[in-house]
Amino acid sequence: MCLGHKTGPITAARRTSEFAGSEHVRNPYLGTGCSGLAMNFERIPEHETLRDSIREFFDRELQEPKIREMDRTRRIPRELWKRLAQLGWPGLSVPTEYGGSGADVMTGAVLCEEIARRFPSLATDWLLISMTARVLRESGTEKQQSELLPKLAAGEFLMSFGMTEPGGGTDVLGLKTRATLVGGEWVVRGQKLYTSLADDADAILVLCRTDPAEAAKRSRGLSLVLTPRHQNGVQVRRLELMGQRAACTCEVFFDDARAPADAVVGELGRGWHTLLRSLDEERILCAAMYVGITAAALDLALQYAKDRTAFGRPIGAYQAVQHPLADTAAELEQIRLLTAKAAWLQSNGHECAVEAAMAKLAASEVAVRATDRCMRVLGGFGMVEESPLERLFRDARLGPFSPISNEMVRNFIGERLGLPRSY
Ligand SMILES: Cc1cc2nc3c(=O)[nH]c(=O)nc-3n(C[C@H](O)[C@H](O)[C@H](O)COP(=O)(O)OP(=O)(O)OC[C@H]3O[C@@H](n4cnc5c(N)ncnc54)[C@H](O)[C@@H]3O)c2cc1C
Repeated sequence: MCLGHKTGPITAARRTSEFAGSEHVRNPYLGTGCSGLAMNFERIPEHETLRDSIREFFDRELQEPKIREMDRTRRIPRELWKRLAQLGWPGLSVPTEYGGSGADVMTGAVLCEEIARRFPSLATDWLLISMTARVLRESGTEKQQSELLPKLAAGEFLMSFGMTEPGGGTDVLGLKTRATLVGGEWVVRGQKLYTSLADDADAILVLCRTDPAEAAKRSRGLSLVLTPRHQNGVQVRRLELMGQRAACTCEVFFDDARAPADAVVGELGRGWHTLLRSLDEERILCAAMYVGITAAALDLALQYAKDRTAFGRPIGAYQAVQHPLADTAAELEQIRLLTAKAAWLQSNGHECAVEAAMAKLAASEVAVRATDRCMRVLGGFGMVEESPLERLFRDARLGPFSPISNEMVRNFIGERLGLPRSY
């Protein structure tokens, strides 16, 4: 299903250099080199059409009471994914020959921002689906692509992604989950934590150690094993989180789970390097999610500041209410620009690791600040469950530490500024 707008295929960034060592990559689009950039702030009609269509969908079919119900029950029903597939959402970045729209990251950022304005948990799961689609699209075998991508675009196949373990998400290369080839199939043993969508997924892309002899090199000997979810060897426990409650974030136990011999996605033993190629895009889409949350919080607070009166005037007439809203509007503009620049670089095949990291860092911090400020404007109503702001406030809390913590992002940026590696 096409989205009714023309987009080019995503062009992979020329080089992803996450944690690649202290080598400083010259990037003509960063810092002082930017002064010679031509800038074009014209609106892109296809993106405006997409924004309108998403807003219409939420107004018509997925209003706040339904979203609130999914938040309470901590579940996004399968039927919703099928409906979203008719709108082209899960298949946005899937190549057209496999039934998707083949859209670039700029378009993905528009979609993610608009979903997050209304329903951040849905944006989190959409982002996951989009990232797993990217891994398949870029590194899957022809068989994996032709079998799975059309189903993924049709909302008939949900894939979650298990990297984090109880031992830690930041120091992810210390992972302990093992996959061993026994009698022509992979046997997976270990535990993953915070795997979103896991309970509802058809398969989990599990980052496992497949070659223990390489353990000393940490990033070597790891592989991505696509493990079917529904089998005795996979037990899933839903976690009761404070925010992003409908994203279905789980603890997953692999107790001699089975996966076919051809279930490895990407090169055997190079799973970490396969993932590195997708990290910039993940950060850009994440940044777009926090732009969406910030924009929604500001909209709600502005409306309230106009409607609510105190001492005979709208509360928005008082400077103490106006100033934090003005600060939020300015910060929203900053993160929107940063995110758009990173998305543009990625969509046009330029190096963007630092810009993507900065966009994720800034947008997630702004969203936390903005939801806090805006909640104060709403007074008591900001804490009432009927107010979407209560949910946005909780959902924004994920940003500073996931999918990568902002401390680690700062470590990475510091290193790119030429400082010694700090971790
Ligand atoms: C709702 C939700 C959904 C998620 N979805 C997924 C998913 O689908 N798949 C998946 O694999 N994971 C997922 N995660 C996990 C997420 O990516 C991790 O929570 C994140 O990577 C941080 O890991 P951690 O929680 O183990 O924190 P830790 O790694 O234990 O870190 C704790 C703190 O220590 C700091 N720290 C650690 N090392 C350093 C250092 N060297 N320098 C400075 N600070 C440091 C961190 O910044 C952080 O503040 C999800 C998490 C949540 C809450």
